[in-house]
This record gives sequence, C-alpha cells and structure tokens, in this order.
Amino acid sequence: MAKKRVAIIGAGPSGLAQLRAFQSAAKKGEDIPDIVCYEKQSDWGGLWNYTWRTGVDEDGEPCHCSMYRYLWSNGPKEGLEFADYTFDEHFGKEIASYPPRAVLFDYIKGRVEKAGVRDWIRFNNVVRDVRFDDSTGKFTVRARDSKADSETEEEYDHVIVASGHFSTPNVPYYPGFESFNGRVLHAHDFRDAREFKDKDILILGTSYSAEDIGSQCWKYGCKSITVAHRTAAMGYDWPENWQEVPALVKVDGNTAHFKDGTSKEVDAVILCTGYRHHFNFLPDDLRLKTANRLAAADLYKGVVWNQNPQMFYLGMQDQWYTFNMFDAQAWWVRDQIMGKIALPDAATMEADPKAREAAEDALEDDYACIAYQGAYVQELIDETDYPSFDVEAANQAFYAWKKHKKKGIMEFRNHGYTSPMTGKQAPAHHTPWKDALDDSLEAYLQTDKQAEDA
Ligand SMILES: Cc1cc2nc3c(=O)[nH]c(=O)nc-3n(C[C@H](O)[C@H](O)[C@H](O)COP(=O)(O)OP(=O)(O)OC[C@H]3O[C@@H](n4cnc5c(N)ncnc54)[C@H](O)[C@@H]3O)c2cc1C
Repeated sequence: MAKKRVAIIGAGPSGLAQLRAFQSAAKKGEDIPDIVCYEKQSDWGGLWNYTWRTGVDEDGEPCHCSMYRYLWSNGPKEGLEFADYTFDEHFGKEIASYPPRAVLFDYIKGRVEKAGVRDWIRFNNVVRDVRFDDSTGKFTVRARDSKADSETEEEYDHVIVASGHFSTPNVPYYPGFESFNGRVLHAHDFRDAREFKDKDILILGTSYSAEDIGSQCWKYGCKSITVAHRTAAMGYDWPENWQEVPALVKVDGNTAHFKDGTSKEVDAVILCTGYRHHFNFLPDDLRLKTANRLAAADLYKGVVWNQNPQMFYLGMQDQWYTFNMFDAQAWWVRDQIMGKIALPDAATMEADPKAREAAEDALEDDYACIAYQGAYVQELIDETDYPSFDVEAANQAFYAWKKHKKKGIMEFRNHGYTSPMTGKQAPAHHTPWKDALDDSLEAYLQTDKQAEDA
C-alpha cells in the first residue's frame, strides 16, 4: 500500500510540534507517513520569527509577524515548557521565568534542530488553495514557491492547518480616523515602543496586547497612556501617567472623545482590538469558523475538523497553554493519522465541541479557565505517549502569575516559578523588567555579576 501523505501548513510552534511528533515516532522505528510542511516565511518559529516589516512581506504576502521588539513572554515559561525538551536541557541551567522573544525563539529552534526536521519544511512556500475531492478521498494543495517563482500542486491524504490565528487584525472604525493628525495602527503593526517616546498614546482594547503594548510604551518613555474600554476596565494598579477611560466615540483632529464626555489630546492611536481566524487559502467546506475561545467550534478533541475528519487544525483555541498544548494536540493527531486512535461516530464527534463549549460557558473566572485548558492538555496527553508532566504544577505557575500581575503590573515579570518538568525553581532575573532595556538573548542570559559589570 502506498504511504500516506500529510501536508502541514505552517512551521510556527504548532506546525513544529507536529513535525517533532512524527519524528519521535520515526525514531522509535515506526513507519510514518510522508510529511511536507509548507511555510510561507523564510525561517521557522511562526510569530516568534521577528521581522521589522509591516504590511506585506518580501513576497508581497500579508506579513505574518505580530510581535515587536522588547517583547517578553506575557506568561510564565513554566506554563509553556516542552515536556520532551526542557529549558534546563536547552540552556544548560534554569533561566528566569519571563524570557524575551529572542530567548523563546532560541528555545523553540533548539528542539527542532535536535530532532533534525528542517528538511521536511518547504520554506518560502505559501499555500494558496486546498481542495478535497470526494471521489479520490484526497486533498490537492496548491502552493507558490517564491524563490523558484513557480507553483506546485500535490495530493495528500491529510491536511493539518497550523497557520496560527494572531496575524489578521480585527480593525474597528471610529469617526474621524481618516483625518486624525497622527498614526492610527493596529497592534499587528506595532514594532518598536521607542517610536512613541514622549508621545501621548491612546490604546483601544483590554487584551494582552493593550496591557503589554501600553507597558512597553511606558517602559520606553512615552508621555502618557490612555486606554479606552468598551466593557470593563483592566483595573490594574497602573503608573500615574496611565489612565483607563470609557469607550472611544470619535476623534477630531488630535482630540479623542470618550463615552463619558471626557476628551484627551493624543499623538497616536493603537488598536489592540484582536485578531480574526482567517484562512484565505481554504474553501468554505474546509474553513474553520470559530470565535477566539477555549473550546473552538466544530473540532472534535479540539483538533479534528468534523465536516471532514481527514483534516485537522492545531492551536486554534484561545491560549493560556501554548507550546505544550500544541504538542499534546500534535501527538494526538499523529496517532489518529497513524491508526492508533480511532474516531467515534459522527454524532459523538459533533457532540464533543458542543459539550466543551457548554463547559467553558459555565466557567466562572480566569482561574477556572486555566484549569479547564490544563485538563484538556491532560486529556490529550493521556491518550498518547507524549511525556506526561505535572499539569497541576503548570496551572499553579499560571495562578501565581495572575496574582503577581494583580499585585504589581510592572513588577510581575520579576518573579520566578517552579518548572513542572524538572521541579527546579527559576532564579529571579538579574535586572527588574522595567530597567532591563536590552531584550537580547545575550543580555538575558548574563549572570548577575556580568549584568552588574555591564
Ligand atoms: C503579540 C503576541 C504575543 C504573544 N506572546 C506570547 C507569549 O508570551 N507566550 C506564549 O506562549 N504565547 C504568546 N503568543 C501566542 C502565540 O499564538 C503562540 O505562542 C504561538 O506562536 C502560536 O503558534 P502557531 O504555530 O499556532 O501560530 P504562529 O506562530 O502564528 O505560526 C503560524 C505559521 O504559519 C505560517 N503560515 C500562515 N499562513 C500560511 C500559508 N498560507 N502558507 C504557508 N505558511 C503559512 C506562518 O508564516 C507562521 O510561520 C503571543 C501572540 C502574539 C500575537
């Protein structure tokens, strides 16, 4: 029988988890399918692969990157650690708990370099179209190779979509935007907080982006931060040049007018208004339509596309857990494709995401949401040979993080937590986050003594 062929779309953390899952089976002597991973960028790492570009990339495709300079992990690394490749293994020591982007990028790369899966990836290959043929039971994937300047069309038994969902901005309109005398930009296009030094900025939204982009601008010297919310304020104990105000109504020149009748002169408006699940390479019958929530719609076990179970999606949930959740999903998908996990009947598959949605709707607070996603990770890893780990310890790291944020929004990154994988305690970082202006890997990994001397 001919080998199965599997296409993976995207070589970010989710797609790389899938490659590592197949590679680990191959290493155990199992006969794995033929794998092709399409990646539109010239390197792996997904969002963690930083570029200064905005708008379109060098190939004229929508720029994938939504990250920015000086970004440090917004949650503790103890919540995202790979069970099969610890921070301790990668760096030769426990490192502090909130690594900057470059450090996490290095960690992500380390595992897949060790696994030797780079050859499975076709870089500079953007998937343009995927079709399923009922008569052959196969998918046709059409991609454009920007280096070869040519298109390919190949058939696959399975398609795994790992293209992420934090790259296509959700952009609201407010009256006056077109004549605003400054920059209006979405968080997706924010790259460097220093651009806003000495400026009065207005941020719309209450997401992680709002909180973190505001914090970055504060750290790098903006004059004031005003955050407008539509529902509830974030409510942290902000620095004195930071205020939270009700929803924006309109802008007039440089004046922003809010729902409570107050106004503020601002130099720039940053829209931290979220992202859309957007798959411009998928036809309607294969395209996931879901809100950004913990129980993504129409996916059995959070990964199998119910309308065509030969297709899978990774990482489409809203995320407390990230890298190790993608691993749990990837190992499960691998085992389903390789025939080790059977799918139930269609009615059971359809009932599964609905039950997950109902359970999510009943959750009372963020702590319950964390436990809920932890339980999902546990459920999947219990069904595969992914190295089991102390999920409760990871939950505990998240809970402590939430409390530390409440206590001091500009100080929470100075804390360290216990690794659920090694049981070791992370050291405090050598420099408090607000004073650590250099976000390079070298600066982060310095010893206390080196940092003092620098
Ligand atoms: C600003 C920001 C900060 C974040 N901070 C953190 C953090 O601190 N900690 C944390 O754990 N998580 C964080 N995240 C969450 C992030 O979603 C995950 O860490 C992770 O990057 C998701 O991995 P992914 O592989 O699912 O998607 P992505 O990282 O988005 O990777 C998807 C890949 O698919 C490729 N691709 C897309 N379309 C195509 C196509 N048509 N053809 C070929 N390739 C394609 C892209 O080029 C990309 O490489 C952050 C997200 C954002 C936006």
